Order: sequence, then structure tokens, then C-alpha cells
Amino acid sequence: MQFKFDPGQPDGENQSLSVAISADGTPELGKRYMVPARCGVAVRVKRGQLLSVVNPHGTQVCDFWAFCSENIEEYLSMEHLHTSLNSIIPKVGDNLVTNARRQLLTLIEDTSPGVHDTVVASCDHQRYQQLGCTDYHDNCTDNLRMALTAIGLRAPAVPAPFNLWMNIPVDSDGSIQWLAPVSKPGDRMVFRAEMDTIAVMSACPQDITPVNGDDCEPVELHFGVEAG
Ligand SMILES: [Zn+2]
Repeated sequence: MQFKFDPGQPDGENQSLSVAISADGTPELGKRYMVPARCGVAVRVKRGQLLSVVNPHGTQVCDFWAFCSENIEEYLSMEHLHTSLNSIIPKVGDNLVTNARRQLLTLIEDTSPGVHDTVVASCDHQRYQQLGCTDYHDNCTDNLRMALTAIGLRAPAVPAPFNLWMNIPVDSDGSIQWLAPVSKPGDRMVFRAEMDTIAVMSACPQDITPVNGDDCEPVELHFGVEAG
């Protein structure tokens, strides 16, 4: 069969298709929601509202994306963010920009030691095949696609994710390592939307490399939206 890449089409399915928080992803302000282990969820965050992402166990990586509500072809871009921040890891107070170099989010709180990743792509079907899986393995790329499908949208691309709490140290020779998170239970990151945003969070289902803790056990994440 000829391989044809389609950014909006998952390579398999999981519960992400049925765990949307509402028909169009609009949240109830102040309510705490869950991203089930191994799944992805999308949420709309209006300009000025605050999105909190919580790591209840402290060991779980969140692959995070954000799209402009008015045009989802414009989205949070790690490559453009590297330029605007002169850094590969956002810190509190930093503005997070889109592929049009416009400010989409501001990171306003991070209770963790600030170790995150913007270098590696989200896991996907092909990655797990390369790691030796023969059956379908849940993956962040498909979770993004399904989370958007679940609120009536279609991924226009698979942007590089902001991997919250993911510990991928970059050495001076350019090599990277895959290590367990250094975050602790209850750590949270809070983003303020500077434009109307659709955020997508995937509780990374990686259980072969220790990016979700040395016991390789993917677990859930929590999130909520409140008025700014
Ligand atoms: Zn993943």
C-alpha cells in the first residue's frame, strides 16, 4: 500500500474521540477536567482567560498544542518561539508565539523546576513501530487529531508540541537524552490566552522509554479554564 501522509487523519483510534468536554470544546469556567491516561482533549480558551494544566502524579508528560480559533492554520510554533525567546525552554513571563510570530499565549505560572521540551516531535504510530510495536499503540499525534475531531475540527498540521514537564536535556555537543520528569505531584502550568485559542493536551502514552517516569506507566492529567 502506498504511504500518503494526511495530517488530519489518525492511524488508529482510542477514547480521545469520545472524551470531549463539550460539543465544541467550550469549558465551564472553574471546572476541573481530566485528560485520561493515553488520551487527548481539546479546550477553547478565550482571550484573557487562564488555562491551567496540572500534573497530579508529577511524572506525566503533556504534549501541548495551541491553535488560533479564528484560523487554525495559525498555531503555536516551537521554531518561531525559539527565535523570539532566544531559548528552547519557555519560562514564566514568556510570550509564546505562532507561526505568524504573533503572541498567542503567555506562560504566567510554572510550579515545577521549569524542565520542559520543545525539541522532539510528538510520538506517533511510526515511532512505536520503530520501537518494536507490532499492534497499534496509542500516540500523541493521533490524540491531537482525535481531540480536534471530537470538537468538530480537523488538524491542519501536526505542529511540533510544547512538551510540558518532558525532560530531554540537550548537551553541548547537540546530543539529547530521554529522562524521567523532574516535576512533582500537583505541579501546574498556567497560560493566559492573548487571542482566542483552541488548546490540545495529550497525556503522552509513551510506555517504552522512561519519559513518563522510570516505571513507564502513563497516567492522567487535569486542566481547567478560569476568567483572567
Ligand atoms: Zn507522546
